[in-house]
Amino acid sequence: MNSLNQAVSPAPVRKSGTKIPEVPLIRLETLWMQVGGTLCNLQCTHCFISCGPQNHTHEMMTLEQVRKTLEESKELGVRDYYITGGEVFINPEIFEILEAILSFGPLDVLTNGTLITQEKSIRLKEIQDRSDHPLRFRVSMESFDERENDKIRGKGAYRRAVEGIRNLAESDFSPILTITRNWDEQDDAEMEGRFLDFLKQNNVQKPRIKILPGFLLGRLAENIRQYQDDEHVTEKCFESYDMANLQCSSSRMATGKGVYVCPILVEHDSARMGDTIKDTLHSFPLAHSACYTCRVTGMTCKS
Ligand code: SF4
Ligand code: SF4
Repeated sequence: MNSLNQAVSPAPVRKSGTKIPEVPLIRLETLWMQVGGTLCNLQCTHCFISCGPQNHTHEMMTLEQVRKTLEESKELGVRDYYITGGEVFINPEIFEILEAILSFGPLDVLTNGTLITQEKSIRLKEIQDRSDHPLRFRVSMESFDERENDKIRGKGAYRRAVEGIRNLAESDFSPILTITRNWDEQDDAEMEGRFLDFLKQNNVQKPRIKILPGFLLGRLAENIRQYQDDEHVTEKCFESYDMANLQCSSSRMATGKGVYVCPILVEHDSARMGDTIKDTLHSFPLAHSACYTCRVTGMTCKS
């Protein structure tokens, strides 16, 4: 077994001969779980994992797999948990999975919100009331404008997500709205204000948003563009940047078929670090162009 921060092999180099920087695992604080697999009820044109009803690259995690992963995570001192997909609410064991995770620690659920009916949100509140750990939600949308949102997420996605947000609000949750930036940086303040107003109009008590960069992977790459050859990180990129800011320095992503370095690269075999979390307690080479996006945007999927 490798101990924390220990590289498994000599530092890798690119074809050009330049060294690929490696991110150490400084401390394993957060565990992500891909509870929805790559399966989703939507098929957004901006999805960087190309999720959809037919993408079986990763199947949904079973309750048994989640329980096993939780036991291992406890031994390793994990403090908090995030679940994502695909869409987590298509998992038939989702409520049992939520309860199981909450018995270990705080949980953030990433969802597109479209499947959160009133009945489900009441059940979610009951689960929260039975737990000492917080249960939080992040609902992803593209726009506060129905037409703009549905252009990317599909017809009817806006209405169903709004309904999901309202249902969560009615059950005393304050979901964070996550949006992939699709406007110029100079419009940030105006857009942030409009998204916050949108949440207030839908009864969210503590309106908060999280704006994510677009990773040029999956369907987003097909529909916008691929990374270019010069878009990758070098050792120089980290001379004045603390690698502790990268989420891969403090987290890992468990799936039904192994543990990956992060939720962003879950479709890439090179990002699979091992069968168990213990197999992944070492540094990781930042060879993928997506790492360039993390570096230049200071991106982290966490709060
Ligand atoms: S972006 Fe989210 S909601 Fe859309 S297809 Fe991908 S996983 Fe599903
Ligand atoms: S994509 Fe981002 S989080 Fe994933 S390994 Fe690269 S730098 Fe780390």
